[in-house]
Amino acid sequence: RLSDISTIRAVMEKNGFSFSKALGQNFLINPSVCPRMAQLSGAADCAGALEVGPGIGVLTYELSQVAKKVVSVELDKRLLPVLDETLADCNNVKILNADVMKLDLRRVIEEEFGGGEVAVCANLPYYITSPVIMRLLEECLPISAITVMVQKEAADRLCALPGTRACGAVSAAVQYYAEPEILFDVSRGSFMPAPNVDSAVIQLKIRKAPPVAVDDEKFFFRVVKAAFAQRRKTAVNSISNTMGLPKQTVTKAFEDAGIPANTRAEALTLEALGSLSNCLFAAAG
Ligand code: SAM
Repeated sequence: RLSDISTIRAVMEKNGFSFSKALGQNFLINPSVCPRMAQLSGAADCAGALEVGPGIGVLTYELSQVAKKVVSVELDKRLLPVLDETLADCNNVKILNADVMKLDLRRVIEEEFGGGEVAVCANLPYYITSPVIMRLLEECLPISAITVMVQKEAADRLCALPGTRACGAVSAAVQYYAEPEILFDVSRGSFMPAPNVDSAVIQLKIRKAPPVAVDDEKFFFRVVKAAFAQRRKTAVNSISNTMGLPKQTVTKAFEDAGIPANTRAEALTLEALGSLSNCLFAAAG
């Protein structure tokens, strides 16, 4: 089994491979996690699965058992010969040696899956968790759901409901594009080497349409970012300081949107953020 410590050690030794901390290489050694992720990813009902960072292929293998096709993007060249060997029996897997942040994902999905909807499933390198997720969401790619392992703190932040304390700009953005859910927790001991924190598998089911109607999406995300930029201040002050708008203009937009001017960003629901953005856009956009 690819999740066995002895297998990982043998594969590493044979290929002279050592873990790169900079690339967030913590490989899964808990045998129950990957089959569960692959099952829950919905890959079986899509054109296929898109994975980021296969490592030695432990999740890739499970995805290949449920999906018609798996395309997996790995940045570390040293893992290519390893994957050739570990996935030798999986003829529905294609490995792309690339940086997921630079790859033209729309084109990859078009070319590899004929433009059909894919399920994204990955144990993400922690140093690019949010950028990868935001990229997948913002580009409105043909994706049914994103099922990924992230650090626990990131899971809580990404899945927080707007209007609650744990909510940040990223949580609001996630809610705009998807319905997020924490599926299950995974202890730090499930990885080799063991990281300093626990993890969780989250799922973002992509919405067919946004839950709030905003007049200008770009402006909406600017307002959301600005509202949370200075968390200790009121949202009026944070928006006014960050966007360089007169406090009066921002206060008026809060009034027009029916939101008390002393509200903090964490108390704003997605609906409130949407109406606020629309009122502010009308006044200053
Ligand atoms: N899927 C494997 C597992 O669960 O054991 C490995 C997961 S490990 C947390 C993250 C993987 O992402 C590593 O294989 C690493 O080399 C790869 N990676 C790091 N940065 C990347 C990037 N920018 N693009 C693609 N892959 C990347």
